[in-house]
Amino acid sequence: MQHLPDRDPEVAEIIRHEEARIEDTLDLIAAENHAPRSIFEAQGSVFSTKAAEGYPGNRFHAGCRHADELENLAISRAKLLFGADHANVQPHSGVSANLAVYFAVLDVGDRILSMKLSHGGHLSHGDPSSITSKCFNFRHYGLNLKSERIDYDEVKDLAREFRPHMIVAGASSYPRLIDYEKMAQIASGVSAYLLVDMAHIAGLVAAGMIPSPVPFADFVTLTTYKTLQGGRGGVILCRQDHAKKISRTIFPGVQGTPSLNLLVAKAVCFKLAMEPDFKNLQKKTLENALVLAAGFERKGYRIVTGGTDNHLILVDLRSKDLTGDIAEKTLESVGIVVNRNVIPGDPQRPDVTSGIRIGSPGITSRGIGEAEASQIVDLADTAMINRENDGVLEQVSLEVAELCRRFPVYKP
Ligand SMILES: *Cc1c(COP(=O)(O)O)cnc(C)c1O
Repeated sequence: MQHLPDRDPEVAEIIRHEEARIEDTLDLIAAENHAPRSIFEAQGSVFSTKAAEGYPGNRFHAGCRHADELENLAISRAKLLFGADHANVQPHSGVSANLAVYFAVLDVGDRILSMKLSHGGHLSHGDPSSITSKCFNFRHYGLNLKSERIDYDEVKDLAREFRPHMIVAGASSYPRLIDYEKMAQIASGVSAYLLVDMAHIAGLVAAGMIPSPVPFADFVTLTTYKTLQGGRGGVILCRQDHAKKISRTIFPGVQGTPSLNLLVAKAVCFKLAMEPDFKNLQKKTLENALVLAAGFERKGYRIVTGGTDNHLILVDLRSKDLTGDIAEKTLESVGIVVNRNVIPGDPQRPDVTSGIRIGSPGITSRGIGEAEASQIVDLADTAMINRENDGVLEQVSLEVAELCRRFPVYKP
């Protein structure tokens, strides 16, 4: 920061504190990641101020020559990275991207079948608290409570009975792979569109570490700031025949001028995601998630579904007489940041929960490997078990701080 400390010392100080918090804590929130500095430089560029309603070659403001160049570059990189026919890189966020897909091909009141929030779905998939549920008629499929996996027969039965216009696959806290081919078969059996929301796993998909939904879905939405490491923003991928409708629905349908600064960062992120280092990072992200799962299991916690195929695990805390809210607070007090999360069939209230969701992207991005991931499980377990013992918590904090120093997020 060269100018802000002078112009607004108060805000500059808050930013410095946040920088210190990021350096001094272990981020195990599955929906977060550490973005490289190049992403911040892109986001903070002069593109922050350009108005550019419309699309390259067809803007409602003059002076868009370079904005056009930039957006075309981002689009061609997104298409190449994900093997998609068409990419819209303007959505401000994942929710904006989902809204645009719904409104592009559905009428208000149409039927959508999606995964239950309490079983791992997302608010924007028709939760009563989301505007999506006020515009469309949602039904939800859940997990089989024994296997804790998607029950495709149930999805098929519900689809036959409910006759949805669209089926949504994708989740925020589902640690397993989704069979997109099966979902596509179910959707086509009832002439429904298939939307796959791959917000969490886009980085793993980009790196080819887990299967891609792109060949099977009419629409794929994603966020760029989770495993993809590209800073805030959303993207829609679709087949060419849906491209026009998606364009019109993003602008002028649900958004105005795109956040060009975020679009610069998206272009950078797509380039970085094609490089060998990124592939390697995503591979290690998967490896660390397996280490975390095995570690907590060894300590006597139950892992929902018995493990993971992606970057996240759901830990059932009931065997330790713990709830998610207490675990979250205890861990934060020693510098380990996670979020409480409902587990399938959770007997606790959603703000209490019986589980915590743990993701490996953040620690992996700072260079932490399998040995330290295992050490983090020990530290987390020690803190949770000794949550009333200030001396033990103090000792754990010191060890967390030491780990953070050994693996800086941003090298000086
Ligand atoms: C994170 C997430 C989103 C929301 O993205 P925002 O950028 O917060 O709007 C959408 N869908 C799923 C499945 C997510 O996990």
